[in-house]
This record gives sequence, C-alpha cells and structure tokens, in this order.
Amino acid sequence: MANKSKFQAIKGTRDLLPPETALWNRVEQTAREVFGTFGFGEIRLPLFEPTELFSRSIGLDTDVVSKEMYSWVDNAVPRLGSLADVVISWPDPIQTEDQFSAYKRYVSDFVKELERAIDSDELPKSPVNKQALQDVKEKFETLSQASVDMPEGKKLAGECVKAIRLAVRFAELGDYLTLRPEATASVCRAYIEHSLQQLPQPVKLYYIGPMFRRERPQKGRYRQFYQIGAEVLGGQDAPGVDAEVIEMLMTFFDKLDLEGIELDINSIGHNFPSCRPAYVELLRAELTKVRDQLGPDSQRRIDTNPLRVLDSKVESEQAIIATLPHIADHLCPECAAHYAAVKQQLQLRGVIYRENWRLVRGLDYYTRTTFEITAQGLGSQNAVCGGGRYDGLVELLGGAPTRAIGFAIGEDRLILSLQQQARASATASEAAAGASRVTLPSSLDVYIAWMGEHAYATAVRAAKDLRQAGFSVELPPTELKFGKALSHADKLSAKFALILGDNEVSEGLWTLKTLADGTQQKLPEPALIEHLRNSLGPL
Ligand code: AMP
Repeated sequence: MANKSKFQAIKGTRDLLPPETALWNRVEQTAREVFGTFGFGEIRLPLFEPTELFSRSIGLDTDVVSKEMYSWVDNAVPRLGSLADVVISWPDPIQTEDQFSAYKRYVSDFVKELERAIDSDELPKSPVNKQALQDVKEKFETLSQASVDMPEGKKLAGECVKAIRLAVRFAELGDYLTLRPEATASVCRAYIEHSLQQLPQPVKLYYIGPMFRRERPQKGRYRQFYQIGAEVLGGQDAPGVDAEVIEMLMTFFDKLDLEGIELDINSIGHNFPSCRPAYVELLRAELTKVRDQLGPDSQRRIDTNPLRVLDSKVESEQAIIATLPHIADHLCPECAAHYAAVKQQLQLRGVIYRENWRLVRGLDYYTRTTFEITAQGLGSQNAVCGGGRYDGLVELLGGAPTRAIGFAIGEDRLILSLQQQARASATASEAAAGASRVTLPSSLDVYIAWMGEHAYATAVRAAKDLRQAGFSVELPPTELKFGKALSHADKLSAKFALILGDNEVSEGLWTLKTLADGTQQKLPEPALIEHLRNSLGPL
C-alpha cells in the first residue's frame, strides 16, 4: 500500500525523481552544449517579477494574464497587510455587538497604520493611497455612529463594510508581484536594465527553469512546468538570424534523437508601417460575414483580436477558417521578401519545414517569423516549442527599438516524448529478443561487497580511487554477508561487484564479478581501474 502523507505536492506540480532526473539533466546539458556552439550564454533570472512586466508584454486579453498568473501583493508594511486581510475578509453581515466592536477596532488600527505608513514614506504618497485613506476614514466615521441592534443600523453597517472593503482593496499596500509565466519579458527587462545594447550586438542568451501558470492540469500541462528558451536581442533582422535560431533548435532536437518532430513556420508581417493591420481588417470583415456560424469565443475575438480566431481548435469552426484569407498573400514587399529569404535560408541549412498560415500571434509587438514544433506521443498537448520574432517588445518595455527573436521549448513535454519514444523502441527490441522484462540501463558501475575490518579500510580506499577515476560506486556502510551484499548489488542494477574479503586484502588480488553474466576474475589492485575503463568505455 502506498504511504499516505498529510502533505502532497500541490495540484499541477510534481516531484521529479531519479532515475528520471538523469534524463532531464541530459536534455539540459545537450541544450547548454548545442546553444554554446551557436554563441549563446546562459542568463539566470528571478522567478518573480513585477506583475506589470507580464501584463504589458503578454497582454491583458490573453488567458495567461487574465486568469493563469500567480500574483500577490508584496506588503511593504507587513502589519498593514495583515490588517487589510482581516478587514477585507471580515464576515458580512455583522451580527453581534461584540463582532461589531472588534471590526471597528481593526478598521481604526488599519486607518492609523495606513496614515503613519504614508506619512513616513513607507508607502507611496500616491493619489490612490490618499483616496483609499480618505474613503476608509469617511466610512469609518459613519460606521462608528451605527448600531447593529436595530435593522436600519445593521443595514448602514453592512453598506459601510462593503465600501471599506473596496477602499482597502484599492490601496497600494506594496508591489504587485507575479511568479513568471514565461521568461522572454524578463530577458528583455534584463537587457534594458543592464544596458546590454552597449555590448557587441546581437546578444544571444538562453535560460532553463520553471514557469508557473494556473492552467487545468492534464498530461503535458502543468502549473509548474519547465522551459528551455533562447533569445537573440539587438543587431539586425536579417533572415539568416531567424534561420540560424531555427537551425539551432533543430540541431538540439537532433542531438537528442527525438524522432517525428515537425516544424511549422509562418510570417505575420509587420505591425508598423502597414501590412498586418490591413490583413487584420480584411480578416475581421470576412469573419463578420460568418459571425453567426462561430462559437462565442471566436465571436468575441472578431472584435478584440481577429488573428486569434485562427488559433481556434473548435471542430465546427474549422471548415469556415479554412476559407479565410492567408496572411502570406497580404504581406508588404519587404515582409514577403524576408519570409522568402528565411525559407531559402532554412533550405540552405537542410532544415525541413512546413508552412502553416494559421500560426499567428495576437500581439502587436510580434513581427514576421513565427514557428512551432510539435512532437509525437503527446496527445492534444503536442506543441513542444513556440517561437518567433518580436521586434517591438523591448521598446514596449521601455528600451530603445531592438530587433529580437526567440523560442521556448516545453521541457516537460520534450521529456514525455523522449520517454514515449524510449518505451516504444524498448518494446520493439524486447519483442525482437523475446525478452520478458525491459530493464533500464544502470547508472551504478561498481558495488563494493566487503567483509572484515581490514577489508573495510581497503574498500573505503578503493571507493575513493574509483570515484576519482569517474566511476559511480556504492559502498555499504555496514558489513553485510557476501550473499546479502551481492543481492543488494543486483537490486541496484550495479554492473560490477568488487568483492573484498580478508583473503583478497592479504593476497592483493581483488575479485571482480560481472553481474550480468555472473563471471568473476581476480585482478591485482593496480589493474582494476584500467580493466573497468576497458569494459565500460569512456566515462
Ligand atoms: P508558450 O510560452 O505559451 O509559447 O509555450 C511554449 C512551450 O511551453 C509550449 O510549446 C509548451 O511545450 C510549453 N508549455 C506551455 N505551457 C505549458 C504548461 N502549462 N505545461 C507544460 N508545458 C507548457
């Protein structure tokens, strides 16, 4: 029976355990190596940022910002924060005189503390805070005159409680912070903050780490998930830059031997000076004609953001969407030339792609190239990477106009796909060999089975030498009978057992047992490492 603990990982979060973590490390190491060969350096970013960084960059009309972010107020004055929590969450309606007095005390304390914090500059003297203070004070005075004994008094108190709650909510009691739902905005923030535009351009950065979105968890979709991303900031928007970023991505997937991945590309033109706005208007006009046949989300998007209708997965809308105009036919000459050159450059690099005119991004700062990679074995959540050019973002965040392109790989999905592929090929080879059990390759090279005090000292020394030579070694801390030790070695899937008893130590000849076939041989101590190297290959 599984152990039941009081505590469990929060929904949508997971523990990653060995041996699976070895695969995560391999993936991340491969990214570091491949990205390094393309001149990218690692950037490590904070896990939380000001909320506004994301609401500005990702856009208020997106699911991520409107409903999926983990945000909170970082109370500048902790006591004020606690008082605000109490005042906001006080049960309404107030029933008894005692509750009423307690509530008034809290509100009075809140007013005093807010006043003090604003006067002492612990909180900003902003119009919002001044207004909040005034509103709470006014309502508190009215509240003080009410009595909850009488129905009218109760009614008045109820109204005051609501008004106070609202005013307290509006007060700026600290910074609004958010766990990062993605990292591109942070990279741009860092580029501006550290004046990286003064370095030789472009600046090429990659990051690896967790992101947080309050999505509905399912296979391949988590609330804490991991991305491996890269961004090229500054320099030119030459098609070679776009093609090289995509080439790097494909090289990475190639190095991981991930099979069956597909690359989709598109160009969404420029927002400024002209080609995309004209296309968006055309799309809106076409969509308006078929408004009645679309679902509520798409109907809303005709007004707010027609491009996003193209993202729709609603089955009944697919036939209609297929008849809509393609952006490729409406690009301005410069964007069309850029797109053609990107495709040509991809061919030059031997990158196989598919054009997908529905691959769009709904925000103004995205420009020209967009791309997406899908992998096998992931069901509906099959996108493992999304990317594109975003020449307007750095400026939107307060920097100078800066060309930029990047991508984010969903590491969880990539790992799922690799595992799926490994299982499929293990099953195939198992069937071919008629084997009954799939065994995972072991990471433990040598298990040292020792008996006797002398042997222990030798075993400790042997473990040290072997580990220094790069082998992974298990040394039982207490003496075990050889039979027990060897069965432990088996359970750990060790490749070799080094058997050290009094005889071996006094003779200087050590016994090495190959656990796969049970054969064993005697080796003089100095020959051991060389022998293991020859058997296990380079480490
Ligand atoms: P995005 O930042 O939305 O463009 O996503 C880039 C990639 O991150 C996607 O292609 C997915 O592979 C991955 N991803 C996004 N959201 C999640 C999630 N909630 N769980 C797991 N992977 C995700």
